Amino acid sequence: MSADLGTLEPRALWSYFLDLSRIPRSSKNEAAAAAWVAGEATRLGCEVERDAIGNVLVRKRASPGREGRPALALQGHLDMVCEKNEGTPHDFEKDPIQVWRDGEVLRARGTTLGADNGVGVAAALAVLASRDLAHPAIEALFTVDEETGLTGANNLKPGWLRAPRLLNLDSEEEGELTIGCAGGVDTVASRALAVEAAPAGRTALRLRVMGLKGGHSGVDIAAGRGNAVRLLGQVLEAVVAKHDLRIAALKGGNKRNAIPREASAVVLVEPAREAALRADLGALERDWKAALGAFDPGLAIALEPGAATKVIAAGDARAVTGLLVAGPHGVEAMSPDIPGLVQTSTNLAIVDADAAAGRAEVCFLTRSAIDASKRALAARIAAIAALAGFEARHSGGYPGWKPEPGSGMVKLVNGVHQALFGKPMVVKAIHAGLECGLIGEKYPGMEMASIGPSMWDAHTPDERVSIASVAAFWRLLTAILAQA
Ligand SMILES: [Zn+2]
Repeated sequence: MSADLGTLEPRALWSYFLDLSRIPRSSKNEAAAAAWVAGEATRLGCEVERDAIGNVLVRKRASPGREGRPALALQGHLDMVCEKNEGTPHDFEKDPIQVWRDGEVLRARGTTLGADNGVGVAAALAVLASRDLAHPAIEALFTVDEETGLTGANNLKPGWLRAPRLLNLDSEEEGELTIGCAGGVDTVASRALAVEAAPAGRTALRLRVMGLKGGHSGVDIAAGRGNAVRLLGQVLEAVVAKHDLRIAALKGGNKRNAIPREASAVVLVEPAREAALRADLGALERDWKAALGAFDPGLAIALEPGAATKVIAAGDARAVTGLLVAGPHGVEAMSPDIPGLVQTSTNLAIVDADAAAGRAEVCFLTRSAIDASKRALAARIAAIAALAGFEARHSGGYPGWKPEPGSGMVKLVNGVHQALFGKPMVVKAIHAGLECGLIGEKYPGMEMASIGPSMWDAHTPDERVSIASVAAFWRLLTAILAQA
């Protein structure tokens, strides 16, 4: 550790953060970090419990005079995203994170820093260690595996926490108060495909839709970007019958939670029709570029050499392209509580259909802050898929966290912020999953809110956290504790 890190304020928080940075803690490998937290809490005289999945719960008694107040839970996650720059020799299984000070921010040498959520974990530990802070009874909950499946929060036992309210410490923008998130559910529609030998005398070509921006299927779903899987379906619907094409395969998208950037189909065309097909594709590319405009200017539609020995029977191929065109994608509803927030959406994420395999699969990821809306949209996808002869299965569902801007927790945090900094917080919710959604499912009626210091480019080796913002975060947190 370089000398300048030892003088950072607040001292206890930074000291814990730097200690934690020496312990490898990739997602699903948090045992050492959990043992360190439990050991430190025990040393401080707190009551410590572990659950089977690896979460740690620490109870600290109220400070003198605060015993009559309801308990408050503080929560952060132990794991961190492990990303490094090409050529960085760092071994995330054993090496300490190399934290360094770059002017007003802290960074790591060539790797993610783990300020997400190491600062939150360190802040909770500093509260547990304090002798002079006023606070109600504290339950500090340290969860595992937030970053690759939320399994720590998802396996939380009902009844473990006793506090009726929870402050999550995993937000990434000073002055913002997060009060809601979306739940999600995967829908996979699949069907068998009738297959025929490829007709003789045709040219196999690979029709590609590419150059789109893609992005996160929740956070970027309202950004007006093109969906390569949808566009592939639309292009094929426009040219297959007109040019008597046969389809051998369709493939596009690779992650449920990413808007598809690329998709392609292997088609067979009579050589005499290839020039007319190319001309039509050129016109379609111009039309779609005009439609997408500045939202997604990079669209390109191309034909390359392909290969196929079998084709999908024409009727079944039409069923697949029909589902790609008719299946929902994009924003379904906006939030009535928070301006600009998407409430319900779905991402037409992946298509994989192949004459060689004789099967087609189309995947959607549906999100909503309202569980009933999420289920309704997933059911609509299944109904549309059934019309095209697909059978749909839903899986991996997790609940949303409905914003309650009038809750006591929101009023408490916002009131303290107003008194300290002379302005209200920016109240927001995000259209993606957070641990609070899962915690709220296990603890109905739990009042929750989330705060954190400003950090940037989390989940990348460029991750950095503002030193001044951590100090402001600590002032806010300790003032909340004094009022709670
Ligand atoms: Zn986080």
